[in-house]
Amino acid sequence: MSEELEHVQCLIIGSGPAGYTAAIYAARADLKPVMYTGMEPGGQLTQTTEVDNFPGYPTGITGPEMMEDFRKQAERFGTDIRFGYASSVDFSSLPHKVVIDDIKTITADTVIISTGATAKWLGLPSEGKYNGFGVSACAVCDGFFFKGQDVAIVGAGDTAAEEATYLAKLCKKVYMLVRRDEFRASKAMVHRVLNTPNIEVIYNTETKEILGNGKNVTGVRVVNNQTGAESDLDVEGFFVAIGHKPNTDIFKGQLDMDDTGYLKTVPGSTLTNVEGVFASGDVQDSYYRQAVTAAGSGCMAALDAERYLAAKEHDVKVVS
Ligand SMILES: Cc1cc2nc3c(=O)[nH]c(=O)nc-3n(C[C@H](O)[C@H](O)[C@H](O)COP(=O)(O)OP(=O)(O)OC[C@H]3O[C@@H](n4cnc5c(N)ncnc54)[C@H](O)[C@@H]3O)c2cc1C
Repeated sequence: MSEELEHVQCLIIGSGPAGYTAAIYAARADLKPVMYTGMEPGGQLTQTTEVDNFPGYPTGITGPEMMEDFRKQAERFGTDIRFGYASSVDFSSLPHKVVIDDIKTITADTVIISTGATAKWLGLPSEGKYNGFGVSACAVCDGFFFKGQDVAIVGAGDTAAEEATYLAKLCKKVYMLVRRDEFRASKAMVHRVLNTPNIEVIYNTETKEILGNGKNVTGVRVVNNQTGAESDLDVEGFFVAIGHKPNTDIFKGQLDMDDTGYLKTVPGSTLTNVEGVFASGDVQDSYYRQAVTAAGSGCMAALDAERYLAAKEHDVKVVS
């Protein structure tokens, strides 16, 4: 049960690239944004070592350092950044209500949702041990580090197929580990995989252990789930492509979502189906899932929020 009440013009939920970029723009537009960081201040990039593809860092930067820069820039313009998570929301009437940490209710004229998505992992201890040291959940982000080397990728859906073909352009050899005797991916994607000479698909196969030398990945131990036979593959990189879960549980029944829980936005904007509520970053994007695209849509969300408030002030109906 919530006790305290506070009203804000612009509430930002989440502190990844999308949330911080929204904060920079909203603060500079004088919306006096309040941000709740969630349990992972800085978002997904705090889990990674090198980020080499974010413009503006010519020599690369670590994920945690980059997100610290985002935070400082958002703070510089006066964003009120608070540690806490949104535990429930009520978007059924204006102003919108968001409960923080189950105890405090914030009412807000606009809400920018940037709660991101969480990569699904296999759950092996060795996967955690070598995460960032050969283990990755993002081929586009980390494939480059394995140029000319051998890698393995786990997964059988469209994303896994897409990522395997992406890796095949960079790497010498790509082992694709498929749990069943068939793919879940579309026929077109399967066709692409099977016609890429340096991808070897290994069916009925599960990962038993990721092997390493204490510093980096050196191989993967796999088991055939039909015969029980174990074998080791020599690889320098291990990619997990078994899906992502958007962090949208608290918005169920409040906002339109697709079948997998990603928030739906009006194409070309960050508008959700509820006026004054905007969604940016991976929480509404199952396709690009990059820091720079998340940041771009964070900018869009702040501009959409600012224009929504300006239109309201002048009593103009915003049509989505
Ligand atoms: C290991 C790894 C390496 C990556 N490397 C790269 C790379 O090199 N380059 C690249 O471009 N991309 C990379 N990515 C992808 C990139 O991290 C994401 O695309 C990007 O972080 C998405 O930003 P976001 O702001 O949408 O969400 P996220 O970064 O996922 O942040 C979500 C935020 O929401 C908060 N949150 C969640 N639920 C709540 C709640 N209920 N209340 C309040 N807050 C909440 C979390 O605490 C977090 O702060 C990588 C991803 C991973 C996992």
